[in-house]
Amino acid sequence: MSCVIAGGGPAGAVLALLLARSGVEVTLLEKHADFLRDFRGDTIHPSTLRVLDELGLADDFLKIPHRKVYGLDMVTDEGHARMASLRELPGPYNYIAFVPQWDFLNLVTTAAARYPSFTLIMNAKAHGLIEEDGVVRGVRYTDPSGEHEVRASLTVAADGRGSDLRRAAGFTPREFGAPMDVLWFRLPREETDPDETFLRLSSGHLMVSIDRDTYWQLAYVIPKGGFDRLREQGIDALRQPVATLLPHLRDRVSAISSYDEVSMLTVALNRLERWHRPGFLCIGDAAHAMSPIFGVGINLAVQDAVATANLLAGSLRSGAPIPDATLHRVQERRMWPTKVTQFAQRTVQDRVISPALARRLTPPRVPANLSRLPVVGAIVRRFIGLGVRPEHVAIQEVQPAG
Ligand SMILES: Cc1cc2nc3c(=O)[nH]c(=O)nc-3n(C[C@H](O)[C@H](O)[C@H](O)COP(=O)(O)OP(=O)(O)OC[C@H]3O[C@@H](n4cnc5c(N)ncnc54)[C@H](O)[C@@H]3O)c2cc1C
Repeated sequence: MSCVIAGGGPAGAVLALLLARSGVEVTLLEKHADFLRDFRGDTIHPSTLRVLDELGLADDFLKIPHRKVYGLDMVTDEGHARMASLRELPGPYNYIAFVPQWDFLNLVTTAAARYPSFTLIMNAKAHGLIEEDGVVRGVRYTDPSGEHEVRASLTVAADGRGSDLRRAAGFTPREFGAPMDVLWFRLPREETDPDETFLRLSSGHLMVSIDRDTYWQLAYVIPKGGFDRLREQGIDALRQPVATLLPHLRDRVSAISSYDEVSMLTVALNRLERWHRPGFLCIGDAAHAMSPIFGVGINLAVQDAVATANLLAGSLRSGAPIPDATLHRVQERRMWPTKVTQFAQRTVQDRVISPALARRLTPPRVPANLSRLPVVGAIVRRFIGLGVRPEHVAIQEVQPAG
């Protein structure tokens, strides 16, 4: 029995590795020629670091140049506040590792390639389902050489929030809306710059500033649909708030020479009410698009993959048909973490981001170190670091050939 997965993002790549590792024939289809895409989420949280550890990949992962961030900080016009500290989580993974997502995906797919039951097909765009008697039996895809099919006992849509397979299955997510989009761009970093990653909040403006050693990765939050209006005002309309919000970058905002250097990412927040049909399952953003708030989308996608493998690898390996009820157990297990996380994201959208963008927000009077509050600090730390219902790899490895 076998599995075909559309989408080589965090959800699809990790699921493919877990299934191949447990001896299941698995084919992973990725529509791009490589994993090199800029400004994708780059945050690997403790929950994912633990999964990598359980897979014996943590040492290789930590050899990739990365930056460790132990807390989430907010800078307002009033001063500096620590919103969450991860240091108090049980070690050794008590930090967020910032790693380019392509490095993470290369590591995972390289590890999967050690197993003979793994096949990766790049440049392969899945576009349709093979259906027989109401059961999904595989996927149709195109690559540069033409049209192809892969038949499998289970077809997984891990093709992200614009999922083609979800559409082909006739599923439409319930939209919760997001008040913002995000502009991503870079500026050079100098040795004398502050050594911090933080959220900068001011009336009418929100920025995230991520220290990437040699450069700053910057996210400027704009009202939804507001990019065209900003472009019409010229590049100074972006340079000016950057210079005001982050004075240490004032001397180099001219390095943003045009909007061609700026990537606009549309923020969506939605989820499916039903994640499966006979022979078919959606996971990751294909089942629930996450907002960038808390930077936990990758980690939820990885946790979905672990839960899916834990619940389905045995049936897939034994050759038994997978009952729809078993697919439903994946949904049941992962729906609660999705709902809680999205509820928290929507609360931040409604209480902080919308008022801030509408200039209705008085910068919050937070204690200097929110993370020290006894109960609140611990809840926020666990929520951000480990997530709701963290998953552990519970399936055995079948030794790779050689
Ligand atoms: C602005 C913004 C910033 C974000 N920042 C963060 C962050 O800092 N940290 C974080 O954890 N999360 C972040 N997120 C969320 C995060 O990107 C996603 O939740 C996460 O990547 C979901 O993983 P996934 O594998 O489900 O989907 P994706 O990462 O979207 O991967 C889907 C894969 O499927 C491929 N694909 C698509 N269609 C097809 C097809 N038809 N056939 C074959 N392949 C296909 C795509 O090329 C892609 O490789 C952010 C989201 C946004 C919008």
